[in-house]
Amino acid sequence: MIGAHPDDCDHKAGGTAILLAKMGYAVKFVSVTNGDAGHQTMKGTELAKRRFAEAQEAGKRFGVTYDVLDNHDGQLMPSLEVRFQIIKKIREWNADIVIAPRPNDYHPDHRYTGVLVQDAAYMVAVPDVVSETPALKKNPAFLYFQDGFQRPNPFRPDISIDITNVFAQKVHALDAHESQMYEWLPWIGHYTEQLPQNKIEREKWLAQKRAVTITPAVRTALEKWYGKDKALQVQHAEAFEICEYGAQPNDEEVKRLFPMLGK
Ligand SMILES: [Zn+2]
Repeated sequence: MIGAHPDDCDHKAGGTAILLAKMGYAVKFVSVTNGDAGHQTMKGTELAKRRFAEAQEAGKRFGVTYDVLDNHDGQLMPSLEVRFQIIKKIREWNADIVIAPRPNDYHPDHRYTGVLVQDAAYMVAVPDVVSETPALKKNPAFLYFQDGFQRPNPFRPDISIDITNVFAQKVHALDAHESQMYEWLPWIGHYTEQLPQNKIEREKWLAQKRAVTITPAVRTALEKWYGKDKALQVQHAEAFEICEYGAQPNDEEVKRLFPMLGK
């Protein structure tokens, strides 16, 4: 999973990552920037170090490895240099699935991460590009994280995963990102006054704050994958759209890639 900042994959697909890791699959989060800009008092190397340490702790709590690329936060461009970094990461991991943001988003780093991963979606199989890292024999499936943006087209939940049983663990992993969950995001969102001081109360508050409402489209997708009865019980879900540029898994292949759907 590839996000722009050291907490993006966590928010968007942390529950799915926990479920896959529990089943014995290897999951990696990659942050394309080092998070050295998004804070009201800290910055630069000091902030990047803190963000890296938080990402490592979150990775442990999710059960994934967490890589942070050393590109500046807030300055990401869809350059050839960063495209090559991403191609290398996908190849080294020999990924079956790559998940990234859609290229429509409020944050330029998210947008360009979407573009960069799309730009890698064919190139990972081209031997002459980044030739020091062997090209993949088969193109992975590329998916998009869920978002709420409507233009030019709304997110389409092709796959949706019931994360109800691991939601508490997801929140506990998000809690590792102290500088974001309890400092930066409340400050930029103007809700610092809501923040409980006590650590246990803080995590409870985070669970409410980070719960994502299941949209009608995601509910319909849950019915498809889990059946109507089970879909009604789902309280927390994560959804993904299949990008048109990589491997195009059919329903059977989706169940193989996400074995929690086959049960
Ligand atoms: Zn972000």
